[in-house]
Amino acid sequence: MIRSKFVATLVLFLFEMAILPSPAGAAMPNIELPEIGDPTHTLMTNAQEQELGEAFYRSLHSQMKISTDPEIKDYIQSLGNKLTINSDNPAQPYTFFVVMEPVINAFAGPGGFIGVNSGLILLTEQESELASVMAHEISHVTQRHLFQTFQAASRMAIPMAIGMLLAAVVGAKAGGNGALAGIMAAQGMNAQYQINFTRDNEAEADRVGMQVLSKSEFDPRAMPEFFERMQQSTRFVGGRIPEFLLTHPVTTSRISDTRDRAEHFPFRQYPDSMTYQVIKAKLRVLSSPNPKAALEFFKNHENRGTQQQQDVAEYGTALIHSRARETELAKVILQKLVQRYPNQPHFMNALAEAEMDGKNFGKAAQMYEFGLQRFPQNGAMTMNYARALLNTHQQAKARQVLHDYLRYHSPDPDIYELMAETYSKLGDEAEYHRYYAEGYYLLGQTQEALLQLHLAKNAAGGNYYLNSILDERIETIRNEQRENKEKQKDSPF
Ligand SMILES: [Zn+2]
Repeated sequence: MIRSKFVATLVLFLFEMAILPSPAGAAMPNIELPEIGDPTHTLMTNAQEQELGEAFYRSLHSQMKISTDPEIKDYIQSLGNKLTINSDNPAQPYTFFVVMEPVINAFAGPGGFIGVNSGLILLTEQESELASVMAHEISHVTQRHLFQTFQAASRMAIPMAIGMLLAAVVGAKAGGNGALAGIMAAQGMNAQYQINFTRDNEAEADRVGMQVLSKSEFDPRAMPEFFERMQQSTRFVGGRIPEFLLTHPVTTSRISDTRDRAEHFPFRQYPDSMTYQVIKAKLRVLSSPNPKAALEFFKNHENRGTQQQQDVAEYGTALIHSRARETELAKVILQKLVQRYPNQPHFMNALAEAEMDGKNFGKAAQMYEFGLQRFPQNGAMTMNYARALLNTHQQAKARQVLHDYLRYHSPDPDIYELMAETYSKLGDEAEYHRYYAEGYYLLGQTQEALLQLHLAKNAAGGNYYLNSILDERIETIRNEQRENKEKQKDSPF
C-alpha cells in the first residue's frame, strides 16, 4: 500500500517537473531519482481515464441515488455544457448528474463525471451560485488536480478503484457511509485516499472557475456569496460541516480573495433562468421527506418575489397535489400555468403527468403528442409519451418513439427498462431480456447483465442476426471482467 502511494506521488512530481519550464541559465540541481519501475504502468491515457470514469459512474448507481428524472438530467447537463464550452479544454467530454442527497456536496470523478447533490442545489439562491460550484469542479478537472488520485486508481481492479475513488472523490469517511465503509474494509483500505486538495489547488480552481463563470454570462460575485452561505449553513444542520467544505476547505481568506477578484468584473444583473427555478422546485418536492413542510414552503412563496417566482411556487404546490393523488387540484393550477407560459415544456409535462396519475392515459398520450410537436426530442415528454402509449395498448408505436429518441440521445437505465417493458408487451422475449441486460450493465450490475443476455440467447432461438449481437456483447463484458481480474493480481493491495 505504501509503495503504491509513493509511486503515485513521485509520478505527480515528475509530471509537474515536466510542464515547468526550467529558467534559462539556472543551474539544475543534480537529483538522483530512485527506481520507480516501468513507467508505462503509471501513465494513464485519456481513453483509460474515460473507461475508469464510466465504470466509476456505473458503480455510483449502487452507492447513491442518482436522479433519473429526465428534466433534472437535461437541466444539469445543459448548465454544465454552458460552462465547459468556455473552459480551457472544451473538447473534453463531461457528464453532469444530480445525486439525491441532502448533504451539501459536489465532486468530480475521472473522465469528466461531475456530480452535484440535491442538497447543494437547494441551498443556492441564484443560478450563478450553482454555476460557480460547477465551474470550480470543472476547473479541478481542466487543471488536472485529481491526476494523482486517478493514477493510483487506474492500477487497481475496478471494484477497488471505485471504492477508493468514492472515498476520495465523494469524501466519505470510514463509518460515515455504511456500504462504502464495507467495501473499503473488504479491500483493506483506510481513509488514506481522502482527497486533500492543496490550498494552491483550491485557489486555482476558484480563479480559473471564476473566469469560466464570467465568460459563460454568470455572476462572478455569486462564488464568494455561496462559499459564505455554505459556511453559515453549518449552523442550520446541527453544526455538521458540509461535505463540500471537507473536501474543498473554504477559509475566510479564500472568501475574501474570491470577493476581491470578483470586484474586478463589471457589475450587472444576472437573472435566473426559469428552468433553474422550476428544477429547484421539483427537487424540493422530490427530496422532501415531509410533503406538508414542502407545501407550506410553496404556499409561503406564492405571494412573494416576481410574478415568475410566484408562478414557480404554484407549480411546486401542483406537484405536491399530484404526488398526493389530488389530481384535480393539480390540474387546475397547471392548466393556468400552461396557458400563461406556452413555451415552458415543464408545465405542460406536469399537466400531462397529472392526467397519467388520474389514469387518463388516452388524454395524456394526446397531450404528449401535441407537446412533442412543440418541443421535439424533449426527454421527459418522450418517455412519458411511451408510457402513455403502453397503457393504451399501442406498443408498436411506443417502440418507434423510443428507438427514434435513442438515435440522438445516450441511453440510461430508465429508458432501457421502458424498452424492455415495450418488448415484453410486444411478446418479444429475447429483446425484453436484452434491454434488461443493458439496463443492468449501466447500473454496474454485470453478473445480472450476463444472466439476462443468456436468457435472451435462449429466447432468440434460430435468429442468427440477434444471436451474433448477443454473443459479441457477452464476449465484451467477459473481457472486461477478465481484465479486472488481471489488474487485481497486479494490484499492490
Ligand atoms: Zn475544490
